[in-house]
Amino acid sequence: MTTPRTVLVTGGNRGIGFAIAEEFLAQGHRVAVTARSGEGPAGSFTVQADVTDAASIDAAFTAIEAELGPVEVLVANAGITRDTLLMRMSEEDFVDVIDTNLTGAFRVVKRASKGMLKARYGRIVLISSVVGLYGGPGQVNYSASKAALVGMARSITRELGARGITANVVAPGFIETDMTAALPEAQQAEYKKNIPAGRFATPNEVAKVVAWVGSDEAAYISGAVIPVDGGLGMGH
Ligand code: NDP
Repeated sequence: MTTPRTVLVTGGNRGIGFAIAEEFLAQGHRVAVTARSGEGPAGSFTVQADVTDAASIDAAFTAIEAELGPVEVLVANAGITRDTLLMRMSEEDFVDVIDTNLTGAFRVVKRASKGMLKARYGRIVLISSVVGLYGGPGQVNYSASKAALVGMARSITRELGARGITANVVAPGFIETDMTAALPEAQQAEYKKNIPAGRFATPNEVAKVVAWVGSDEAAYISGAVIPVDGGLGMGH
């Protein structure tokens, strides 16, 4: 029987984050999710928060600590895309994606680390993307934000590894969510040709891996990049 932990999933109201929250709940943990809109799965504690706003993150953590106790497992999942070719990408497109995907992860990790250091226990899982290290046309902003999470996880590992805290990156490939539904059919078919598994994955296939990396059992894995991409990014 695994020890029930307090888990926080950012962006847990839909897509991959929702599935991750469901999986931790199914495994008997106390689960909080942040959402800007909507709710996490039944049984989770939803707090409104925007990862681009440090004050709203701090307030969310304070509410979670009061309701469920200090966060022991953090899944930094909230993310956005603003895809367009480099020549057309505005500085705003670039900075907005970095602010949500990278600085947003920094804000929640920093706030979570307080309680983790005190407890000398923590699991930090940063949701990156195959595109982080593989690259993607039209995704200069997104790819840069996701690649940077690798350096973040590895630096956290070097800083906090001796305190019972791990930090890892999970790098999904193409997953069936609102984010990929926005891709034109022809582009989806083209991507599938390049995926050895020949298909996109369900959010639950990512959630299972995240829940394991975030478990007590995964104590000796830190600074790793774990792909869940049907073989798309092999070697990257
Ligand atoms: P969705 O677009 O379905 O959901 C994105 C989630 O992030 C929503 O819960 C959204 O909240 C939240 N979010 C976005 N911006 C903010 C913000 N500023 N503050 C708080 N929450 C925010 O995405 P997916 O489920 O597909 O993706 C989840 C993560 O997985 C992302 O980091 C994404 O980059 C990554 N990923 C996805 C892949 C895919 O194929 N789908 C592949 C690889 C990685 P709200 O509903 O309020 O907007």
